[in-house]
Amino acid sequence: MLENLAPQPADALLALIKLHNADPRDTKIDLGVGVYRTADGATPVFKAIKAAEAKLLNEQDSKAYLGPEGDMGFVNALIPYVFGADFDAAKVDGMQAPGGTGAVRLAIEVAQRTGVKRVWMGTPSWPNHAQIVAAAGLELKTFKHTAADGTADLAALKAALEEAEASDLVLLHGCCHNPTGVDYTPAQWDEIAPLLAAKGVLPLIDLAYQGLGEGMEADAYGLRKVLAAVPEALVAYSCDKNFGLYRDRVGAFYAVTADKDALAKAMSNGATIARASWSMPPDHGAAAVRLILSDAELTKMWLAELDEMRDRMRWVRDQLAAAGQVGPIAMDVLGTQNGLFSMLPLSPEQILTIRERHGVYMAGTGRINIAGLTTGNIGQFIEALRDVAT
Ligand code: PMP
Repeated sequence: MLENLAPQPADALLALIKLHNADPRDTKIDLGVGVYRTADGATPVFKAIKAAEAKLLNEQDSKAYLGPEGDMGFVNALIPYVFGADFDAAKVDGMQAPGGTGAVRLAIEVAQRTGVKRVWMGTPSWPNHAQIVAAAGLELKTFKHTAADGTADLAALKAALEEAEASDLVLLHGCCHNPTGVDYTPAQWDEIAPLLAAKGVLPLIDLAYQGLGEGMEADAYGLRKVLAAVPEALVAYSCDKNFGLYRDRVGAFYAVTADKDALAKAMSNGATIARASWSMPPDHGAAAVRLILSDAELTKMWLAELDEMRDRMRWVRDQLAAAGQVGPIAMDVLGTQNGLFSMLPLSPEQILTIRERHGVYMAGTGRINIAGLTTGNIGQFIEALRDVAT
């Protein structure tokens, strides 16, 4: 029977890792996989996480099942950071999920159960968004995320919303857009929020990089603006980047509505979907986040580490922006973008050449991981770009 399966394409980024590992040049530069790296190229465990893990080791007295909603102490501890310190807690409820991926999956499946049939999304987007929408049997409708000048294309979103129906879901990245780094500005969110409300669509905000863009508060601006305008919304949250927990799979799914009954239904449906999918989320990383957020000293330590990451990425972006025009590429826009990623307008041939000639590994789409660049290699990278892009 298994021979009936259609072969599936290998994950392009994983294939890129293999190629990078096999390259003997010590000058090679890995801009592929989306994890933060220090100036030494490492992706260390946060000190705050290590401290929380030590506590967990000493204090955890049981590993008995928690239930499909996971660690509710973790879920609730995040609420003021995501929704704001003065957000009406009665309007929001959530559950833990295996990473932001699990949270997006829960949100899309809960939406599907409400009768949503179509999902609107700016492209390019994180490739898994389209896969999850397809897996839930929903129709994907796309619009252009980035305008020709490298800013977010508000006109394209507005045109999509004109065509959208009240029964549609609109998926928006809260900050640090993956893969473009191009975020809606606060002024654009100010326009988007009332438009979503007027149309009556169900917004899903995917917030996977809070704190990596402009800061914890600033990165939540769009989400909070939308939530202040619409009667109902869904949120998919990831702690895998801002706590450096990638493989521990730490995320949360939230529903927001003033209707208590609807909120309870959203959660009970989420729990049933979780039960049939992964039963319960992995505990360890979420427990560590809960311990950090319930301890003022650990919270301070975590926020300082997050500041350091953000400052380093800002430094890289400033260096890239200072390169000005590199052939046809206007590098200055990279300085205005946020988060781990940006996209360079390179052809597949140029991406291959920069890899073969200069050992620069980037995704086939031209996406680069900003954190792969350091004082030691950024000059070499800009020269390599100059070589292939002119
Ligand atoms: N949403 C977006 C936009 C992402 O880029 C990612 C991961 N890179 C996720 C969600 C999921 O993150 P994870 O499952 O690793 O927490």
